[in-house]
Amino acid sequence: MGPYGEAAIALPPAAVRADWGLPRSLLPFLGRLLHHAPRLGKLSGPFSALMNPVVQDPFLRNWLNLLCFLLSGLPAHSTSAAEMAFMFAEWYQPDVVLDYPVGAALPRRRIGARARKAGRSATVGGSRCRDLGGEESSSRGALENGGGDRARKAVVSNLSIWDTLALLPPDTLPPAFRQQRQQTPECHSFMHLHLGIDATDLPTDLACHHIVVNDWALGVTAPQNVILISIPSVLDPTLAPTGKHTIHVYSPGNEPYDLWQGMDRRSAAYSDLKAARSEALWQALERVIPDVRRRTEVTLVGTPLTHERFLRRHRGTYGPAIAAGQGFFPGPKTPVKGLLCCGDSTFPGIGLPAVAASGWITANTLVSSPQHLDLLRAINLYE
Ligand SMILES: Cc1cc2nc3c(=O)[nH]c(=O)nc-3n(C[C@H](O)[C@H](O)[C@H](O)COP(=O)(O)OP(=O)(O)OC[C@H]3O[C@@H](n4cnc5c(N)ncnc54)[C@H](O)[C@@H]3O)c2cc1C
Repeated sequence: MGPYGEAAIALPPAAVRADWGLPRSLLPFLGRLLHHAPRLGKLSGPFSALMNPVVQDPFLRNWLNLLCFLLSGLPAHSTSAAEMAFMFAEWYQPDVVLDYPVGAALPRRRIGARARKAGRSATVGGSRCRDLGGEESSSRGALENGGGDRARKAVVSNLSIWDTLALLPPDTLPPAFRQQRQQTPECHSFMHLHLGIDATDLPTDLACHHIVVNDWALGVTAPQNVILISIPSVLDPTLAPTGKHTIHVYSPGNEPYDLWQGMDRRSAAYSDLKAARSEALWQALERVIPDVRRRTEVTLVGTPLTHERFLRRHRGTYGPAIAAGQGFFPGPKTPVKGLLCCGDSTFPGIGLPAVAASGWITANTLVSSPQHLDLLRAINLYE
């Protein structure tokens, strides 16, 4: 993957923008792109086109398929080769580790505080946007608490494409555009098991991350076949009281929403289905901690409905299931003047690398070409 990794990072996302300034911002990287030109064609297709001719070992093929699924929600024949090459390039940088953010991800109030300190953006914590509607074809944001205003320059939505569409009144978008985006294929949703357990006498070398594949023959995308386990308190003891562990077990993007659609979350049928569908998660965890049920003091089961509600994502989906070579992620532009998008519906990959790249591209698009080049100089990507 070495040469493909180099080709995938020959053009940094920082240099990309979605307007006529693109040729100018690509110019400094043209030499590198031409050097890697022979590999760029394959990078635009699925990862299987790279893998199939050279990887025959069944375990390695399964493992690479699993990596694809964990990154994109799709197996190797649908995952972008560029995305995998980019990730390989990252993984094999010196001192890189795949691990857990000690202290947990940045708390929301600190993100708000940072945005305020930067002084450039209004923070609207605590109130949902109810309408991104365009007046006179330009975007504004209206909040559920009655606030909101017309944006001077732009409104950027990082909601999933389906959630963004739901905030745009019918007449703001050309019907063909709405229909085409609404039909974006979806990854499945999640089952979650959040536990607090008694950690007495557990092995001191208990690992944080575990991946259980129940049956390779079923394929990595089969419902409940791949289960992920994190025990972050083994790395960061502040996440649990002394002598306890906190555990998150989940089925990553392989729980069909249709099984849950329309259920009453207070009904007995819902409780029964929760118990039945969380059983696979318990069984996976028992491979790591055999007596975990006896140790458990706190149990919270999340379903696709929980995921939809708390993460506010359409049908609790992991994200768009746009197969490499069969469709394109749309990038930031929309037909509504001043409304741009970023996030995992706009850039291939799902996950934070894709989201960060998409945010960067959207931000670049909002500044002038000279400002963009100044930024590239400031971060030493261009002299
Ligand atoms: C269990 C799980 C594990 C994962 N693990 C990893 C991992 O290890 N590495 C990795 O890179 N990625 C991982 N991902 C994927 C990653 O979390 C997502 O791809 C990423 O969060 C998507 O970012 P986003 O900004 O596009 O969308 P989101 O994170 O969905 O952000 C959209 C935000 O908008 C808010 N919102 C929705 N509607 C409104 C409204 N009307 N008004 C105001 N706000 C609204 C939502 O509450 C949400 O906070 C994981 C995802 C899950 C579910």
